[in-house]
Amino acid sequence: MNNRFITLSVALSLLSGTTFAVNEQASGEQTNTKAVVRPVMHQEMAKALMDQLKIEMESAYLYLGISTYFAEQGLDGFAHWFSHHAEEEWSHAMKVHQFLLDKGVRVELPELASPATQWDSPIAAVEESLTHEISVSQAIKREYELALELKEYDVAEFLHWFLHEQIEEENLFETVLNSLYLIEGAHPAALLALDLEMAKRS
Ligand code: MG
Repeated sequence: MNNRFITLSVALSLLSGTTFAVNEQASGEQTNTKAVVRPVMHQEMAKALMDQLKIEMESAYLYLGISTYFAEQGLDGFAHWFSHHAEEEWSHAMKVHQFLLDKGVRVELPELASPATQWDSPIAAVEESLTHEISVSQAIKREYELALELKEYDVAEFLHWFLHEQIEEENLFETVLNSLYLIEGAHPAALLALDLEMAKRS
């Protein structure tokens, strides 16, 4: 019994004119008064999802770092594109966060390392993005396997959206990277034209 309940009991006693009696729970014993308790998610599954929360936040942070790099290179279209993508990754993190809360998991927020903001070339920055997305896809597939193994079917269903999203993500970064490969060594005007295309993302 908590203090608020004791206070409420006293108030009700005074209102009704009855005598207030403290029962044995109020004297310090802790008894679970919940008649129905929701099943909890396996700890291993909850940990895997919290790792994914961290991965999505790290993705947002990586792309913000890349956006910073492009801005400093004077490629504002690329900077805009990556900044936009950082926001998208943050929204993925929020999806995981809300799911954990809805499932009644006690969420621990991760510490994030400072991301890089320098690369040797635009190609190197985008190559790192694609490599990152491939590793994110692998992590989500491992989580999905774990969900099936632990019979956490609602988690598996939740992860479907992310599995599909990763196809889109890998394809998106591969397309940008291929465009950069195509113009590699060409006149700088080609890179500036691509930068204008990247600026159109909304
Ligand atoms: Mg993501």
